Amino acid sequence: MTSWLDVPDDHPFGIDTLPYGIFSTAEQPDRRRVGVRIGDHVLDASAVAALGGDPGDGPHLAAAWANPSLNAFIALGRPAWTIARDWLTEILTDDVHRAGVEPHLLSLDRVTLHLPIEVADYVDFYASEHHARNVGQIFRPDNPALPPNWKHLPIGYHGRAGTVVVSGTDVVRPSGQRKAPQDAAPVFGPSIRLDIEAELGYVVGGATTIGSRVSVDEAADHLFGVVILNDWSARDIQAWEYVPLGPFLGKSFATSISAWVTPLDALRDARISLPGQADPPVLPYLEGDAFGLDVHVEVSLNGTVVSRPEHAGMYWSPAQMLAHLTVNGASVRDGDLFGSGTISGPTRDSRGSLLELTWNGTEPLALADGSTRGFLEDGDTVTMTAWAPGPRGSRIGLGQVTGTIVPTAP
Ligand code: CA
Repeated sequence: MTSWLDVPDDHPFGIDTLPYGIFSTAEQPDRRRVGVRIGDHVLDASAVAALGGDPGDGPHLAAAWANPSLNAFIALGRPAWTIARDWLTEILTDDVHRAGVEPHLLSLDRVTLHLPIEVADYVDFYASEHHARNVGQIFRPDNPALPPNWKHLPIGYHGRAGTVVVSGTDVVRPSGQRKAPQDAAPVFGPSIRLDIEAELGYVVGGATTIGSRVSVDEAADHLFGVVILNDWSARDIQAWEYVPLGPFLGKSFATSISAWVTPLDALRDARISLPGQADPPVLPYLEGDAFGLDVHVEVSLNGTVVSRPEHAGMYWSPAQMLAHLTVNGASVRDGDLFGSGTISGPTRDSRGSLLELTWNGTEPLALADGSTRGFLEDGDTVTMTAWAPGPRGSRIGLGQVTGTIVPTAP
């Protein structure tokens, strides 16, 4: 299947990708609306749907896509997401639609991309066994690397939805309390151990009511799409504050996500089995279609590739995370976001955080400009990209998430 647009077969945003985002133009900076990326163009989705292409008895896509976030579209639910994707594929492949659609394609370099979702609730999980073991060894060297609950449930914490920002947003170095074990008292100041965490974020829709659950098998109907997520982390603040209630100010200052939300439907060919949960077996509510996703991530620091984490190695499935998140009767809202947790593999060059890559700063990384890093310095730029296998050997691009550290405000 090819588009009537001249998109090369190996383009990561070909006809099999079709991610959703929110854009505006210089001519109408206040008119944010839904765009669909194809090649190096953005389709003004609501304008095209308003031409009369809305399926007769189907969802009102033109109205949903005229909104300044994806939430209204996400709220339409799985059947509408499928109809929308099929329709977009048709109008971008069947030549009969070309004359009507082509005027609504904008060059990517002529649009500004915005935060794609109004984040409802935000949860961050901890689903990589390699990451959990590394952090355990660094933070709790005298205890078993994995906490006793780790293989029985996907551990998570509630984060701060209001500080999720879009790729390209500067990140202000956070200030807070820190206290090293040998210090007598805590001190206050800008974080001196500022870090990254390479993750995928899952965007949730199909709101539920309090008291109901989403099972593992139902989860795919609530997983709208995937973003690349950088969970910026101040390790010194985190280490002092996290006992006993978990991460707080060491995480809540900023979380960056990619501007493009890749539909779960674009990742069908990336579905894989999990590496294994045979020992110990999970409780029945965590059983079902617990698929993994074969997504390849690349992390660059000031242009030097420092890691290539593989999401395929994650222990827990996003379907299990959503089932666990709701098993107590907690509802989900349209626009909920949950992070996978840092994606780390067994080798040094597949670790998803500087904490692990530099073993808490003791083994600094060498960058291409000759400098070294234990943690982030002001002016540093971190960029994460990702892709997944698509149909017929194509690549599904997940775009990028990038951010630059700026000094603490005086
Ligand atoms: Ca995290």
